[in-house]
Amino acid sequence: MTDAVQERSLPVEAQMIDLILEKSTPVSDPITPNRGPKLKKAKPLLKNKLQKILSCAVCLELRRSAIFQCKYGHLICAGCFGDILSESRLQNEIASCPVCQSTISKDLCSRNIAVEKTIRELPMSCPYCLLQISPESYKTHKKCLCEKRPTICSNNLIGCPWEGPYSQKQKHQDECKQLSANGFDILKSLNHMDEESKEEVNLYEKIFELLSVEKFSYHDLQFKHSTTEDNVEFETSRFSAFDNLWVIHGYFKDKPSEFHYQLILKSKIPVSLPIHYLLVKGPYSDMEIKPKLCQFTFEEKVSEGPFETLNLWYHSDSLRSFFHAKRINIRIFIFVNI
Ligand SMILES: [Zn+2]
Ligand SMILES: [Zn+2]
Ligand SMILES: [Zn+2]
Ligand SMILES: [Zn+2]
Repeated sequence: MTDAVQERSLPVEAQMIDLILEKSTPVSDPITPNRGPKLKKAKPLLKNKLQKILSCAVCLELRRSAIFQCKYGHLICAGCFGDILSESRLQNEIASCPVCQSTISKDLCSRNIAVEKTIRELPMSCPYCLLQISPESYKTHKKCLCEKRPTICSNNLIGCPWEGPYSQKQKHQDECKQLSANGFDILKSLNHMDEESKEEVNLYEKIFELLSVEKFSYHDLQFKHSTTEDNVEFETSRFSAFDNLWVIHGYFKDKPSEFHYQLILKSKIPVSLPIHYLLVKGPYSDMEIKPKLCQFTFEEKVSEGPFETLNLWYHSDSLRSFFHAKRINIRIFIFVNI
């Protein structure tokens, strides 16, 4: 083992006790604010150190998911753990811890509940304004207090389609054209909204119908960064569904903020394979993805599905903040058409 591995091999609990002892003077008290200029310097240090100790050894991020550990105590978040296991299964190899190379599996590794609980006590980043919020206030901030939270116009019920950040709501409402619209225009907008909600109902009916097909599966995946010169590109690990290998490729477009993704079949198929697929947010993800049911027939020589746009429920500007993370948890459902 190298020195670096040995240092990382210290059990997490030992590293945290070292840290707490080192910082147990009043200067480092993380709870009581405003104890003078020294405290202001020490506070981010404690948080940063905790972040380093508790982050996943693979994606290097602090994940609020289940956290697994190898027999030497190296931490791996649930998403990365699943990725490593499925990738080694596909390659017929034994999965190993990326830090110390010891064998890992669901039986050999345990969850570290203390680490999971500690991470849940640390501040969380608001997906809209990126402020660091205490876990107790996070839900209230995101739903009711954040100036950048997605909102709709109060005149939505009479047909105004506006949606945007809360900070711009009042300005929009002061000038909302719907208030001075005539009956004919209001009726036109209402009909349009009616059409949209009918489409939505049809979509959910179709999804429920597909849940009864004989062959369907779902897979929890992570989009991982691979930056090119022009775009920020993403790819999931390969995954196996219906005896074939698949991968999802995606790229983030900055102006306008859009994320495009494409399902790719990596195996050769002798007969055509018509499928429906649906991308939704993955476990522990905050990203409110608007469902879109896609349909495509893969053939022997047609292995790449069309590019689809990933839309959020409201306020697509916030998409950018989700894609700041190095890995994004998604879940894909695949249904084989009969
Ligand atoms: Zn990870
Ligand atoms: Zn290890
Ligand atoms: Zn916020
Ligand atoms: Zn309006």
